[in-house]
Amino acid sequence: AFIEVFEEEALQRASSLDAERKSGKTLSPLHGVVVAIKDVICYENHAITAGSRILNSFTSLFSATAVQRLLDAGAIIIGRNNCDEFAMGSTNENSAYGPVRNAADVSKVPGGSSGGSAVAVQANMCMVSLGSDTGGSVRQPADWCGIVGFKPTYGRISRHGLIAYASSFDQIGIFSHNVSDTALVLEIIAGADNFDSTVSSTPVPAYSQLLHHTPYKPIKIAYFKEVFEHDGLDVEIKKAFHEYVGQLRQKGYIVEAVQFPLLQYIVPTYYVLTTAEASSNLSRYDGVKYGFRAALNENDDLTALYKKSRTQGFGKEVKRRILLGSFVLSAGYYDAYFSKAQQVRRLLVEQNDAIFEQYQFILSPTVPTTAFNLGEKRTNPVEMYLADIYTVYANLVGIPGISLPLFKHSNGLPFGMQLMAPQFKEADLLALSQQLL
Ligand code: GLN
Repeated sequence: AFIEVFEEEALQRASSLDAERKSGKTLSPLHGVVVAIKDVICYENHAITAGSRILNSFTSLFSATAVQRLLDAGAIIIGRNNCDEFAMGSTNENSAYGPVRNAADVSKVPGGSSGGSAVAVQANMCMVSLGSDTGGSVRQPADWCGIVGFKPTYGRISRHGLIAYASSFDQIGIFSHNVSDTALVLEIIAGADNFDSTVSSTPVPAYSQLLHHTPYKPIKIAYFKEVFEHDGLDVEIKKAFHEYVGQLRQKGYIVEAVQFPLLQYIVPTYYVLTTAEASSNLSRYDGVKYGFRAALNENDDLTALYKKSRTQGFGKEVKRRILLGSFVLSAGYYDAYFSKAQQVRRLLVEQNDAIFEQYQFILSPTVPTTAFNLGEKRTNPVEMYLADIYTVYANLVGIPGISLPLFKHSNGLPFGMQLMAPQFKEADLLALSQQLL
C-alpha cells in the first residue's frame, strides 16, 4: 500500500507534537492525526512518482495546498501510497511498483487508481488518507475495501500540487472509516487558493458541525432506471440496491426512479475527454524536465532522447491513453470524437441540473461488481473501463459523490452505495451520509 514510509520524520514530528501537547498549548484540529497521501500529491522535499518509472528519483519542490493545510492543522504525513500510474486504472495493477492487495482478501485487487490509499485506511495503517478521483479513483476502491470514499465538487479542493491526469475532472478525495473524519478533513483542506485558478471561493462551511442537520424534509432521492439495464451489474448488488431503496422509503425518504437515457454514453465520453487531456498533460515528461532519462547512444539526437525516455518511462496503460488522446485530438478526428464528447458532457450537465431541480440527491451502486481477482482483467482494458460506469458521472458533471460501506456480498467481499448531490452541497451530502451509515 505504501511506496515509501516517512518513518523517522513521522516519529520526530510525533514527538514534537507531543511536546506541544504537554506544554498545554491549544491543539490544532488534526493534532497528531496520522495521514497517508497518494503518490500523486506533492509534499515538499519528498519523492513523488505518480506510480511511474518516468518520475523515478524526482523530488517535489513544494507541498500541495491540501498537504500544507493538513500539516498546518497538526497532521502527521506518514508516507506515500502506491497507485495506478498517473492515476490511470481501476485495480492498482498499473503501478510501476507492482499491485496492492485488498486487505479483506489478498487474492483480490483493492480497486484503483488510489488503491494504496484505500488499503492504508482499510488496514488501519493511518486514520485518513488522500487520494485523487478523476473518474472514481477514490469512491471505487473505497467500495471494494469497505470504507468511506469521498470526492468533492470540482473546484472545492485546490489541485495545486496534484499531478494532473485530466485537469477538468481531477479532484483530491478523502478515505476514512466514517463520515465525520471525512467532514473534518474536508473543512480543513477545502477552499480558495491563489495557486489554483479553478478552485472555488465559495465559503467552506464547518462540515463537521453540520452532520446532524436535516437538509430537507422530506428528502428526495433519485436513481437512474437505466442503471439496472446494465448487464455487467452483479445480481446480488442489484438486489441489495432495490431492498435498500425499500428500506429508505419505509424510513420516510422519497426515492424515485428517473429516466437517464444518456447513461450508455458516459463511459465513452469520459474516456475520450480524459485521454485527450491526459495526452496533453503528459507531454511534459520528456526525459528533460523531470525524473527519468533513458541512456543514450552517441549518435542519438533530441528526438531520440524524448522517444527513448518516454518509451522506457511510461507503462502500457499510460501509453494506450496517450495514443487514444492524441488520436481523438488529431485534425481528422477532432470533430468526430473530441467535440462530440464535449457536446455530450454539456448535455449531461443539463440533464443533471434538471434532475436536481426535483431531487436533492442521486443514489446508485458505486461499482457494478465486487473486487476482481488479481490479474483477472489485466488483458481486457475495455471491460475494465466499463466498470467505471457509475462513478464517472460525478466527474463529468462536477458534482460531489460519496461511497458508503453498507453491505457484505455472499462472496465475503464488501460493497457499498454511492450518493451524489448538486455542486457545493457537500454539507447536505455528508449529513445524509451520516444518517445512513
Ligand atoms: N478508473 C478510471 C480511469 O482509469 C478512474 C481513474 C481516476 O479516477 N483517477 O480513468
